[in-house]
Amino acid sequence: MVDILTTPVTELKGVGPRKASALNKLGINTINDLLTYFPFRYEDVGVKDLTAVQDHQKVALKGIVATDPTVIRFGRYKSRLNFNLLIDHNVVRVTFFNQPYLSKKLQRGEEVILYGTYDVARQSLSGIKIIAEDTSQRNDFTGVYNSSKEIKAGTIKKLVHQAYENYHESIRDIIPGSLRRKFRLLSREQMIKGMHFPVNAEEATQARRTAIFEEFFLFQAGLQELRKLRRQEQQGVKIDYDNKKLREFIQQIPFELTKAQKRVVNEICSDMHRPIHMNRLLQGDVGSGKTIVATIAMYAAVTAGWQSVLMAPTEILAEQHADKLATLLSPMGVNVALVTGNTVRNPRLRRELLTHIEHGDVDIIIGTQALIQERVHFAQLGLVIIDEQHRFGVEQRQTLLAKGGNPDVLTMTATPIPRTLAITTYGEMDLSVIDELPAGRKQVQTVWYNKKQVGQVRSLLREQLDQGAQAYVISPLIEKSAVIDLKNAEEVYQNLKDHFEPRYSVGLLHGNMTNDEKNQVMQAFKAGELAILASTTVIEVGVDVPNATVMVILDADRFGLAQLHQLRGRVGRGDQQSYCVLVADPKNDFGKKRMETMVATTNGFVIAQKDLELRGQGDLLGKKQSGLPSFKVGDPVTNLNILQVAQQAAHDIINADDYTTNNENRVLIEYLHQQIDNGSRA
Ligand code: ADP
Ligand code: MG
Repeated sequence: MVDILTTPVTELKGVGPRKASALNKLGINTINDLLTYFPFRYEDVGVKDLTAVQDHQKVALKGIVATDPTVIRFGRYKSRLNFNLLIDHNVVRVTFFNQPYLSKKLQRGEEVILYGTYDVARQSLSGIKIIAEDTSQRNDFTGVYNSSKEIKAGTIKKLVHQAYENYHESIRDIIPGSLRRKFRLLSREQMIKGMHFPVNAEEATQARRTAIFEEFFLFQAGLQELRKLRRQEQQGVKIDYDNKKLREFIQQIPFELTKAQKRVVNEICSDMHRPIHMNRLLQGDVGSGKTIVATIAMYAAVTAGWQSVLMAPTEILAEQHADKLATLLSPMGVNVALVTGNTVRNPRLRRELLTHIEHGDVDIIIGTQALIQERVHFAQLGLVIIDEQHRFGVEQRQTLLAKGGNPDVLTMTATPIPRTLAITTYGEMDLSVIDELPAGRKQVQTVWYNKKQVGQVRSLLREQLDQGAQAYVISPLIEKSAVIDLKNAEEVYQNLKDHFEPRYSVGLLHGNMTNDEKNQVMQAFKAGELAILASTTVIEVGVDVPNATVMVILDADRFGLAQLHQLRGRVGRGDQQSYCVLVADPKNDFGKKRMETMVATTNGFVIAQKDLELRGQGDLLGKKQSGLPSFKVGDPVTNLNILQVAQQAAHDIINADDYTTNNENRVLIEYLHQQIDNGSRA
């Protein structure tokens, strides 16, 4: 039995260097590549009865050439070929544009089958092609292949045929039999045959289901296998934490952890306990309670004598984290230190702080980028946690990691990654998901007003302020230019002052302020000295002011769904009913759909999925950056269900105890290792 995975296409008759190179450009190097180069659509070229044809349907018609074909040329390259076709007693006028050479194939009095678009009223056929003259050997239902300038679709079709004829007995099943039976998949040979040479649409659809499954499954299995191999190589720290102390600490937390929080704590702790390197992504919607999970993980490391570090993207956030952690952990005898641009300004304090860290007097260090810039040395760094990971570049993270031996890493993000993307792009990280919000949380009520309804917005604001709550009013960055951005936010600020002061004081926050100024305003808002905060999107990430219950977003259609969701996440953090007010007159359907989505759901994952559908998957992260693999048959968005099932199946097989010993997996393992070898050579 030959191995079609390694047999080059040049083994086929008629494939010399030139055709081989044309095929290579289409990604076809081996027989297997060719056999999985599937048609992108199918044509039904079965001859139809004239009375059954619908207007503008593409059909094959059989008839007798009743008049001599005439060719009329116009312009330099344009022409029109005309003749009458006699079908029973009906005369159909046939026109072919720009294919004058066809006239040679058309003899008056002969029977032909033509494929084209039929116009019922005019009783005419706009011809596309003449179908095979030999009517006995034809398949009515036929695939259409993507081609290139260098190789015609017809040639590809013939080569596929030849490859199938010569090698179909060598097509081995890669997907293990038990899995095929479980998901009622076709054998690989049946699938390939059905994709290329289906008898009808139904058979093509059947084959396609198996093809998509196979594609997703093999991709996922490849990722999982790779991760397993890497993991075996990567030694990491073993954090032998004190389970008893950890449990005591968890009991002291003023609330009960959600089921999801408990699950991810277990996942993280068991990773830390193993002597392998942890590289885990903790994903949870805004307000799902990631901070407490991070706190537990850091405390676990401390009980084993390791230091932990938490890096946040802004000073406001770092301070907020430090406050919370110190409150929770000081009673446990844990030392928490804050390292930000602010705290290291005083040279004496700075030296002292850094010395404490280096000597291991400090257990938990929380900070901003200053952690990287400053000459911070750790005594024994065991765990690194990165909050809001998308705010940091890869290098910043690497620099931080280099400060420890090979510390375990937990990355946290509130950006809900649609499952599709998480599955296809985060293959190298282990994923922990907090998929529920703490109980008793009231859903934020979202309303959408147009700009004329500003009166309603103001009365909602006033009503909430009268009850002692606080509010954010966000205006968008109109242009990239900071000047215009400022002007817009300042106008809004003035306007709010005019309407609400002196009864309620209004503050202003924007990106052009210094860190000190920003902090002052933020502190005033937190302390309740400001009732309304007019702001640009600088408050987008992480800020936690539970008394704020209204989020007004002006020109909301200028924001993407992910950002709107982030902004909305700033309210609804206490036990008061909260509101998100979108003010927008969207100019197009997409803007409208975004508003409707926000009103319809508060579920970040649903929103992220919707975002994906509205923008197209390539756009979400920028096509180049996204690292999304391009699939040949499957579409991760429309075939999400198959993707999920295939991922689970791949995970189960690769991680089964008998994975390597089970004879059923032999071909799969061979296949995967071949792919991995190819990948590492490329
Ligand atoms: P995020 O995931 O957005 O970072 P936080 O960690 O800031 O969320 O948590 C949001 C709020 O919910 C905080 O005030 C936190 O104390 C609270 N919280 C977290 N977990 C729970 C829980 N299990 N029950 C009740 N409140 C919780
Ligand atoms: Mg957070």
